[in-house]
Amino acid sequence: MLPPLPFDTLTAARAALAAKQTSAVELTKAVLARVDALDPAVKAYVSTYPERALAVAAEVDAGRRTGVLAGLPIAVKDNLCTSFGTTTCSSRMLADFRSPYDATVIQKLEAAGAVIVGKTNLDEFAMGSSTENSALFTSRNPWDTSRVPGGSSGGAAAALAAGLCLGSIGSDTGGSIRQPASLCGLVGLKPTYGRVSRYGLVAFASSLDQVGPFGWTVADAALLLQAMAGNDPRDSTSVRGDVPDYLAELDAPLTGLRVGIAKEYDAAEGVDPQVRAAVAAAVDVYRSLGATVVDVSLPHTRYGIAAYYVIAPCEASSNLARYDGVHYGHRTAEPVDGIIDLVSKSRAEGFGDEVQRRIMVGTYALSKGYGERLYHNALRVRAKIKADFDAAFARCDVIASPTSPTAAFKVGEKSADPLAMYLADVFTVTCNIAGIAGVSLPCGFTAGEKPLPIGLQLLGPAFGEVNLLRAARMYEAATDWHTRRPVLS
Ligand code: GLN
Repeated sequence: MLPPLPFDTLTAARAALAAKQTSAVELTKAVLARVDALDPAVKAYVSTYPERALAVAAEVDAGRRTGVLAGLPIAVKDNLCTSFGTTTCSSRMLADFRSPYDATVIQKLEAAGAVIVGKTNLDEFAMGSSTENSALFTSRNPWDTSRVPGGSSGGAAAALAAGLCLGSIGSDTGGSIRQPASLCGLVGLKPTYGRVSRYGLVAFASSLDQVGPFGWTVADAALLLQAMAGNDPRDSTSVRGDVPDYLAELDAPLTGLRVGIAKEYDAAEGVDPQVRAAVAAAVDVYRSLGATVVDVSLPHTRYGIAAYYVIAPCEASSNLARYDGVHYGHRTAEPVDGIIDLVSKSRAEGFGDEVQRRIMVGTYALSKGYGERLYHNALRVRAKIKADFDAAFARCDVIASPTSPTAAFKVGEKSADPLAMYLADVFTVTCNIAGIAGVSLPCGFTAGEKPLPIGLQLLGPAFGEVNLLRAARMYEAATDWHTRRPVLS
């Protein structure tokens, strides 16, 4: 029987390291032992770097590496470029891609002393909600391994939920941090667009992509955000100015908090009654803590999915044009008849079905004659969705909703039906469309033999992470969902 981790939150491990109750090497070894024992079933990691991780941990123990994350074993999504190992995006196209440089977030995490254990599985190029679109394998939900961990950052969520790291990093273009956090019982934060550098994050939809953390607790997510946030001259969309201290007042409850409930969310179809009940109960907790619950309206939210599934594919079709087997990526070994044939064979072999579908949709929606009707209309909807949020945040501080309409679904349940999979993003995409901040945190479990986590989403205004995290912490401090762990043997 595998020993449980002595400390499975970053905050607890940090305190234990400071008190010399454990060492970075000891902690890293404990995590690596669990990876050996459990990852064959969970399948969270695409690649691990045990020797490098132990060497980094040894440097921390020797006092040569310091920082807020010193000695803490973490995992990073495999669409973040690392100068070591591979960066596959879980695609055949980049199966053996070795990045010559580190993404800015990787640099910052390591500069803060983090020990990167490995790189985690995702839906190919971050397109999906279950990791079933990974060209490598499907990751499993540690709460029930017949189910998906969510996606696209499913490997990062599964790794943390299974105790194969103490914190992890994902990316969120339309929900890819919040939805897997919800399905795996974790806290997952999508920072405001521009809060964290995208330099070295392999681009999916550049106007929507943002890097963010997973933790067991709000404090852990805040700690990781602290280490990653800030301006980067290499990402012109990252904002200038100082990064607030996200931990300073985290435990101070917000007085006069106004929690907004959007009536349009009640109309959303396909929401599991258990999810609705858990979210309603969470709102009651806020009421009991003295918050005021206010009705707000987000009238254009119902066009969110349609707009997202035009904007994201348009940007993807452009971003992914570089993988042609000449400039970048897999090149066919078949005989070819000229450059067009080389490119088309290489792309047909290198990209999976979902990626090809999005490239085709995006190319179509941008083509002459259709661009105006499709892409430009989607941009108009985008402006309206943003205006809805501006109006709503004049009346409330955070907006509460489910993160995902259902708890974790079975592997294979939705993989044959792209539209059903897209609808799983109904509560998450508008946050990216508007460029605001969002967090998911555990707010209950389904009934049954294998209870599954349910997530509460809180949305906050752009650059409102300090208050958003405080509001999340307020709920967390009044409940104990975040203390539950899946049983794995
Ligand atoms: N599930 C959404 C999609 O398939 C979101 C993905 C993401 O945030 N990377 O596009």
